[in-house]
Amino acid sequence: MSEVLNVEEVFGSKVFTLGKMKERLPKAIYKEVKKVMEQGGELSLATADVVAKAMKDWAVENGATHYTHWFQPLTGITAEKHDSFVTHPDDEGHMLMEFSGKELIKGEPDASSFPSGGLRATFEARGYTVWDITSPAFLKEDATGVILCIPTAFCSYKGEALDKKTPLLRSMEAVSQQALRIVRLFGNKEATKVVASVGPEQEYFLVDREKYLQRPDLIFAGRTLFGAPAPKGQELEDHYFGTIRERIGAYMKDLNVELWKLGVTAKTQHNEVAPAQHELAPIYETANIAVDHNQLVMETMKKVAGRHGMACLLHEKPFAGVNGSGKHNNWSLGTDNGVNLLDPGDTPNENIQFLLVLACILKAVDTHADLLRQSASDVGNDHRLGANEAPPAIISVFLGEQLEDVVKQLVETGEAAHAIQGGKLQTGVSTLIDVDKDATDRNRTSPFAFTGNKFEFRMVGSSDSIAGPNTTLNAIVAEAFCEAADELEKADNFDIAVHDLIKKYLTEHQRIIFNGNGYADEWVEEAERRGLPNIKSMIEAASTLTTDKAVKLFEKFGIFTKVELESREEVLYETYAKSINIEALTMIDMAGKQYIPAVIKFSKSLAETVLAVKEAGADASVQAQLLGTVSAKLAAAQAALTKLEKVTAQASAMEDVKEQAFFYKDTVKEAMAELRTPIDELEMIVDKEVWPVPTYGELTFEV
Ligand code: ADP
Ligand code: MG
Repeated sequence: MSEVLNVEEVFGSKVFTLGKMKERLPKAIYKEVKKVMEQGGELSLATADVVAKAMKDWAVENGATHYTHWFQPLTGITAEKHDSFVTHPDDEGHMLMEFSGKELIKGEPDASSFPSGGLRATFEARGYTVWDITSPAFLKEDATGVILCIPTAFCSYKGEALDKKTPLLRSMEAVSQQALRIVRLFGNKEATKVVASVGPEQEYFLVDREKYLQRPDLIFAGRTLFGAPAPKGQELEDHYFGTIRERIGAYMKDLNVELWKLGVTAKTQHNEVAPAQHELAPIYETANIAVDHNQLVMETMKKVAGRHGMACLLHEKPFAGVNGSGKHNNWSLGTDNGVNLLDPGDTPNENIQFLLVLACILKAVDTHADLLRQSASDVGNDHRLGANEAPPAIISVFLGEQLEDVVKQLVETGEAAHAIQGGKLQTGVSTLIDVDKDATDRNRTSPFAFTGNKFEFRMVGSSDSIAGPNTTLNAIVAEAFCEAADELEKADNFDIAVHDLIKKYLTEHQRIIFNGNGYADEWVEEAERRGLPNIKSMIEAASTLTTDKAVKLFEKFGIFTKVELESREEVLYETYAKSINIEALTMIDMAGKQYIPAVIKFSKSLAETVLAVKEAGADASVQAQLLGTVSAKLAAAQAALTKLEKVTAQASAMEDVKEQAFFYKDTVKEAMAELRTPIDELEMIVDKEVWPVPTYGELTFEV
């Protein structure tokens, strides 16, 4: 029998939870902290000192030597700079480990090397990290030792957001304030805030580390830039929910324990559609904590993979020809007195508050479909959105039969007299217990699907931070709530006004509802007829951030200033150009130093064989034909390589970042594809022994 793990004991053991604060802090201080956590406001420096000391004592008892302000710059990953608790020794050389309230609350990393999109010139390098008291501090343990990590927001000297957390927190406040106005209209006087909740399902690939290390493309670009398809892909659908192999199971077990220690509620695990692809989903929590935890999930996935001799690939499309990875961002809004605004109840047609919330969300998504699409874009996701497995780049909303029917009744007659019910599941087997059915089936092809009491935003990329998508969601919904509340608060007859407003919103925005197959070509045409935007790439989406509509929205709720938006747009172009440049250089390197030399060697031995066979008086036509084919493809590869070298050099010399990004997309990417084709074809005909890197089959089936 293996050792029994006490999960209840392990859970949160590396987190400075509210429970630990309660144990360790004087009552009055604990109360003050809790109040600021729940309602916002300032923590006095004296209080911060006490909290810092308690936090440090707990951390040191658990082996910590350093602390760090842990933040989320625009790189999309997290950043940390460690400081030890060591202080100046006294005359006798004794040293006391210390940590002050000031150090807890504020940090000042010289952060001039993070992307800021021109928000800070290097001479204005000052940036501040500020403690996010609502997200618990935790201990990170690795070869560096034990580090106390304090989640923080990261801003410039002038208070401009330089990170992903600051706007997210701003958006959470905005949606809370506006949603409160809505629930007040329906008589809810107890709620003091409305919390955005998020549960992100994280997809990932695992490959053998030895093989990973032989693929420069995986190392530098996170995805394969070459590779012929394996004889078997995902066509048998035998991997999805399949039995988990021993090596993967051991990894998942270890991963869960590490996450539980960090207070992450790892809940669901399974194999995904593509070979070597898997998923982990935690239980949903407050948006900013969910964002922090998702960063920890991604980081821990990679770390634990190393321990198991594997590498975890979080890229959206590590392998061509099989599914890529996404992150389903489940999102809902709930009051602090326990009402989920997205819960329709059994009879949604009678639930006026729900119908208003739904109408507002449909309006928000329709009005800002471009922004929502933008929020889910990153370099890797360009390979997914619109490709066969992922939702298309077109935003639409799936409501399901029941709600679609209610909406239809409301639009047509202004009344919704009934709601379709789920009924009993008929299995046709008398020994199977009758179970209740949901009122609505699922739809796996919709980018934004209503799933019972939440929306599932399925477009998000697997490696991306979920801060952006949730900031946008909160912002656009805050705006719709605000506009509705503005109308309804001044209405003479609330019942009539709310009824009319729901009907108006639903009628005006029903084009965003689509319950059909989002992967079908007909939908692309239909969406165009409806006037829905179909933004094909990350950089085409970038400019949606700075339209008048977007600036008005984000400035109205203090989420982004125009300057912040402009800087973010610029960062996107920069990031895109740099990423594609890395991919192009990696291809050039691999083609020039690995593939082409290997094929030359192979063709030499083939040529020698042809000569030898002929000399021996036998028929060498097969060998000669193969040699001809190989030589022709080799020539094509060499020509494509030369072209890629040329356009990449041209691209990197460009000065205007936007122009440059588009050149990478339109010209460099095309040249990359032209180089890939002959190399992949060569892979299919060249002797396996001489092929310089592990193949798709070896990478995805031999894990
Ligand atoms: P699926 O069947 O869609 O794959 P999973 O169980 O894998 O679903 O994941 C669903 C996610 O949605 C989980 O993270 C879950 O905690 C989350 N979730 C459930 N209810 C809510 C809610 N009200 N708000 C936000 N997220 C939620
Ligand atoms: Mg799932």
